Amino acid sequence: MVSANPSFEALAPLPLLPESQRKRVVVVGAGIVGMSCALWLQRAGHAVTVCDPTPPLPGVGYEAAASFGNSCTIAYGAVLPVAMPGITAAVPRMLSNRDGPLSLFWGDVPGLLPWLWSFIRASRPSEVQRITAVLGQLIRLTAAGLEPLIEQAGLQARVRRTGCLYVYRTAEQFEASQATLQMRAEQGVRMQVLQAAQLRVEEPGLKPDYARAVRFLDTCSLDDPHHFMIGLAQDFQRRGGTVVQAAVEAVSRQGEARAAIAGGQVVAQGDLVVIAAGARSGRLAASLGDRIRLDAERGYHVLFPQDGHRLNSPVCDPEVGFYLTPLGEGLRAAGTVELGGLGKPLRPHRTAMIERVSRRLVPGLGPAGRTWLGFRPSMPDSLPVIGRSPSDPQVIHAFGHGHVGLTLGGITGRLVAELASGVPTSMDLAPLAPHRF
Ligand SMILES: Cc1cc2nc3c(=O)[nH]c(=O)nc-3n(C[C@H](O)[C@H](O)[C@H](O)COP(=O)(O)OP(=O)(O)OC[C@H]3O[C@@H](n4cnc5c(N)ncnc54)[C@H](O)[C@@H]3O)c2cc1C
Repeated sequence: MVSANPSFEALAPLPLLPESQRKRVVVVGAGIVGMSCALWLQRAGHAVTVCDPTPPLPGVGYEAAASFGNSCTIAYGAVLPVAMPGITAAVPRMLSNRDGPLSLFWGDVPGLLPWLWSFIRASRPSEVQRITAVLGQLIRLTAAGLEPLIEQAGLQARVRRTGCLYVYRTAEQFEASQATLQMRAEQGVRMQVLQAAQLRVEEPGLKPDYARAVRFLDTCSLDDPHHFMIGLAQDFQRRGGTVVQAAVEAVSRQGEARAAIAGGQVVAQGDLVVIAAGARSGRLAASLGDRIRLDAERGYHVLFPQDGHRLNSPVCDPEVGFYLTPLGEGLRAAGTVELGGLGKPLRPHRTAMIERVSRRLVPGLGPAGRTWLGFRPSMPDSLPVIGRSPSDPQVIHAFGHGHVGLTLGGITGRLVAELASGVPTSMDLAPLAPHRF
């Protein structure tokens, strides 16, 4: 384990509010973002109810949540937006490669145009600099947002503190990444460069055809994201939190209160509602009149149940666009981006591609097991939405974490609890405002 990164910012404990200021809060969604909001709200003294049709509780299927199937990295190096300068020119090459990291449903392109237009605008160099500074600030607060929840729930043993590796096939590819590595370093990301020989010693299971690697020293990974989420939910219940199994259709005003409606009935009521339903948050926000430029970036995973021992830490070849993460249940190959929204099923040729490429990267893999499709809740500028609804100040939006929700869930929870409690927020939330597009 490495010593704590000096750029990580500590936060004073969240004040426990006097009884008279405590609220009843309904959190819609029990992914990493919703559960983190619920736990931080509880720490401030609020009475919290979480609504989710499939919460992370024993015996309940949790596959609908992105928090179930991700690459499991708490990615302390993730300070760069997805839309980087040059992305527009790179897209045709990525799409023409069947084994590439990007695919889309062509028929959906017209509907995606507003999102794509904002995405392209976010890739301008000045925007990338601005966004990187905001992500850097969030990442420096990540430990302060997440570690107290891990400790409180006794989940330390589920976190592997090994760092993670980016691997480069050629010295030229590594050289080409220097500018982005420098941008990360400027945000306090700690990295170590490995030469080919050292990489072979540290990851003997990886095909020995990589020239260089970069280890992100502070990155951690989860041993089992589903059980991690169950641990958080059980901790929430132990501390008096209520979980209601319901798919919320709308948030409605009931005099001074706000209600979560499911099946035409009020299923939970509070002084405040937090919308944290991941990629499905857009419709709920729209029920209040908020039009938010949220879309889903589809991502896949393939599990190799016999192969959890083959790597010592998560490994990502940026050319293939997915991580190989060793977990208790096996080796999980997870990532890629497919644009096409929420409605369509898993496309087997994408998981077949992930399986094929994984076998190339880690020779001798055993049979593949579970395949999974999930939905990243993505904003075009790679920044989450954290802030009060423009239509109703008694509703707080907390979604849109894209590729880094597992990482940023904890600090999002803390920021939402600060907003709900009326105390100064630990960072300026203006760049994360719901109405920024
Ligand atoms: C392949 C892949 C790899 C990834 N790898 C990483 C990684 O390594 N590191 C990282 O930081 N991030 C990663 N991510 C991103 C991360 O998984 C997401 O950003 C994060 O899980 C989003 O959390 P969430 O709580 O917002 O949404 P979700 O986890 O999707 O949870 C939303 C919850 O809301 C519930 N819900 C939906 N609709 C309703 C409703 N109407 N009423 C009530 N509840 C509802 C759902 O049932 C679900 O439980 C990855 C994502 C994918 C797809």
